[in-house]
Amino acid sequence: MPAKKPDNSIKTPKGMRDLLGEEYFTYQGFFEKAAEIALYYGFKPIETPIMEREELFHSVGEHTDVVTKEMYALKAKGSNKFALRPEGTAPVMRAYIEHGMQTWPQPVMLYYGGRFFRHDNPQRGRFREFRQFGLEVIGTDKSIADAMTIKVMATVLEEVGIENIVVDINSLGDKECRTAYKRALVNYFKKHSGKLNAHEKDLLKNNPLRLLDSKNPELEKLKEDAPTSMEFLTGESKKHFKEVLEYLDALDITYQINNTLVRGLDYYSRTVFEFIEQPKEAPEGEGGDKKEEASAPLSLGGGGRYNYLGKALGAKQDVPGVGAALGVDRILMDESVKNLTPRIVKKPKVYFIQLGFEAKLKSLGVIEILRKARLPIRQSLSKDGLSAQLGTAEKLRIPWVVIMGQKEVLENCVIVRNMEDRSQTNVPIEELADYIKKVIAK
Ligand code: AMP
Repeated sequence: MPAKKPDNSIKTPKGMRDLLGEEYFTYQGFFEKAAEIALYYGFKPIETPIMEREELFHSVGEHTDVVTKEMYALKAKGSNKFALRPEGTAPVMRAYIEHGMQTWPQPVMLYYGGRFFRHDNPQRGRFREFRQFGLEVIGTDKSIADAMTIKVMATVLEEVGIENIVVDINSLGDKECRTAYKRALVNYFKKHSGKLNAHEKDLLKNNPLRLLDSKNPELEKLKEDAPTSMEFLTGESKKHFKEVLEYLDALDITYQINNTLVRGLDYYSRTVFEFIEQPKEAPEGEGGDKKEEASAPLSLGGGGRYNYLGKALGAKQDVPGVGAALGVDRILMDESVKNLTPRIVKKPKVYFIQLGFEAKLKSLGVIEILRKARLPIRQSLSKDGLSAQLGTAEKLRIPWVVIMGQKEVLENCVIVRNMEDRSQTNVPIEELADYIKKVIAK
């Protein structure tokens, strides 16, 4: 039989992609900036495995899309079942408990960045493999922790160039308020069950809060008139929410209370929020529903308080916590994001040219001298002719060129050429780094 031809299965899986060159650097630059801001606020890094035991995510909610429909479950040898992580909070809480972080000074403030996986239908801003930057403040129920989490994320968004961010915010209250609220929602939607489709009827039974998340236009009016969680907040929850809003006012963070914001995961209690970029005003006469639909604001991040997650994962006592995650791919798709260059990428100051075999032999040594002196260079060691190499240096607008030919090898020197006025100087190799530093400082 003839060998099977490679087919589509060899391409990247749907909803996943390769990151190359400049785009890779943009992601790296983003994570570097976000981490730097988090570090200033006192967060420390954590990295958890990219896969976890599947049960971990069941604690996130048996009736949430992330667990029921979107999780990549893996079968390995033996009976253990694993899943590619769909979100970051449950793994971080798992790590908190596993490493006995309850005994550390509280709260424990952690940041992380990395890839997450959800088997969702790829569409605008929605991928199967995507990147998040997350924060978790674990071990305090104080409202300032909620406000700080929002503030740090808002700062990250602002510093990468995203303007017009509005924080959609709501409070789901504590267990008691939530039970009463859920009951009221069920009663309300039951009265209108004729308008619900099969999936929504299922939600009504298992996770009524998620009905408020529905994108079904038929439910729009129903959702508007539905009871709100605000009506059910008990004294403590009400006070907590009021304080969070006061902090946001004091921090000049624009927010709007969104009564239908419940977020997908079961573990949230009290504060929930999302970062929404307000659409830029369309020029007059260019409105229209189609356009609005195409640019409907995406949520660039979200989070909330999760006071019951710790116990659900086996902690002996309640572990209050609050966290948030930014959707990095969505943020970087935004046209207002500025150039994000990671620190390791430096503008080249020198272009290195070699001519002939003897020079090639010595070239890596010269490049190493320049690297040790922290002088960023470019080269094309696989090219031969002078004009081709000079042409590249010119195209890249690199101001100084170091040339090494047969003669220079014998004399243990190089030619340094100023690309602006085309003047050239012979420089002994041992003086090269100092010489370049001197001329580029001028
Ligand atoms: P979540 O973990 O669902 O709270 O999501 C936090 C943020 O991650 C969202 O606001 C999105 O910006 C981003 N995000 C969530 N799911 C995806 C996805 N499938 N593809 C790309 N970004 C996503």
